[in-house]
Amino acid sequence: MSEIKFPSQRPSRTKIVATVGPACDSEAMLTQLMLCGVTVFRLNMAHGAGTEDAQRRLDLIRLAAGKLGRPIGVLVDLAGPKMRLGEIPNGTYICNPDIPIRFVRGENTSEPNSFTTTYEPLIDDLHVGDNVMLADGTVTLRVSGKNTDSLICEVVQGGAVRSRQGVNLPGVNLSIRTLQPHDIVHAKWAVDACVDFLGLSFVRSADDIHELREILAETAHRNTGLFGEIPHIIAKIEKQEAVENIEEITDAANGVMVARGDLGVELDIAQIAMVQKMIIDTCRRKLKPVIVATQMLESMHTHKIPTRAEATDVANAILDGADATMLSGETAVGNYPVDAVRMMNRIAEETEKLIAKYSWIKQDARTTQRTQDTNLTDKPKTKKQNGSIIAENNLPVTNAICSSAVEIAEKINAKRILIASRSGVSVMGLSNRRSSVQIIGTSHNPRVLNRMNLYWGVIPILNAPADPRDSLKEIVEVGKKVGRFERGDRLVLVSIMGTSSENHNIIYVHIVD
Ligand code: PEP
Repeated sequence: MSEIKFPSQRPSRTKIVATVGPACDSEAMLTQLMLCGVTVFRLNMAHGAGTEDAQRRLDLIRLAAGKLGRPIGVLVDLAGPKMRLGEIPNGTYICNPDIPIRFVRGENTSEPNSFTTTYEPLIDDLHVGDNVMLADGTVTLRVSGKNTDSLICEVVQGGAVRSRQGVNLPGVNLSIRTLQPHDIVHAKWAVDACVDFLGLSFVRSADDIHELREILAETAHRNTGLFGEIPHIIAKIEKQEAVENIEEITDAANGVMVARGDLGVELDIAQIAMVQKMIIDTCRRKLKPVIVATQMLESMHTHKIPTRAEATDVANAILDGADATMLSGETAVGNYPVDAVRMMNRIAEETEKLIAKYSWIKQDARTTQRTQDTNLTDKPKTKKQNGSIIAENNLPVTNAICSSAVEIAEKINAKRILIASRSGVSVMGLSNRRSSVQIIGTSHNPRVLNRMNLYWGVIPILNAPADPRDSLKEIVEVGKKVGRFERGDRLVLVSIMGTSSENHNIIYVHIVD
């Protein structure tokens, strides 16, 4: 059996998700990004050339991580019903408030001042008074007239638009399903490729998550040797309807992304900061990991240093309680991917020093609910809601154990908390307390280890024995050998995987001798 390997350096506790694109898709660059702090790579299916391209990148990521000897998380981001403009003659058009725009059906138009879109039911779904946002919200049109084959829009806020740029319809109820045929193809590939997380864009209700989960389960059922596992579903919150349904969506999903790129266009941008806090709060109550995404270090596309506002934004997301912060174009197509990751890591490290002082999380997380339930049980880990499976993470016994383990670790000034986990839920429970004591996670299941890469403050370690007591012994031995632990160091071991047939949960304190 291979030896346990501690990461060569300690990255920030806040996890960093980096989007893979042409600027970083070589083995050397991916290795460098991991060494600088990336723990999860995102493959964005809205760009790139489909599953073949994604598989090539996935292979490179796994090759690089394998050589470093560390688990890595991979998030495949499904495009959902992303709308785009069709081709514009000459590629660019300046929207002028004096000239109305016409949207027509079809893929292309040569009529002057006319656009097509990739969203077939556009003309049917929109009504007079609705807004159409183009080019990342920089151009606003308002529907002023409609007939069976076209929409007439006045230009409220003018500006330049280019072929294939994004289209957003704030507040409009879309008539199409969230999961598009291309998403289903990509999702099935992701199951076969054993990716760790699947992001679903433009989620509107919990049913979107249930539908995806059923497709994943059916696909996995055909496969063997995957621990019966399907990718964890990350609900991307980028529509008003998703904000309204956040409780049910968070229950149904395994994690959430505050996808501020589209959210900032679909909602009044003035509301974004408060909506971010509300979403993060919901995730923390339900023990679901949460990623804050988009424009975090935007200016680092072309500059080596971020703006003051960007650096502050990253820090505030961490203080709000984000598990992970994400880089998009900065790593995918920017000029300075490595500098962007280094910077995000540095901001996180500085912020984490003061998390107890400036964040409400620390005080709040200790509130473990009391229960009168004498049949208290943590089973099942998934439960049915209206006939559909939801991922229940807020489990009373696990929660109480995690709370107590963190309290003990802090009281005795422990060096590390070690946790052996079967599903990763208990690891989330520990992570959620935002302890100053670093958590080391082990699992017999490599996919659970990969997923720990999204949980704040957890370092997943490969090759630990499945039995938690053996696991502790080996981690201590190797930790001593590589200079991580010294005589007298206190370690708190937590095991919620059932160390005996009676399914005992245990916490014990070990003093390194
Ligand atoms: C977003 O909109 O913020 C987002 C993360 O999604 P995408 O990058 O696919 O637009």
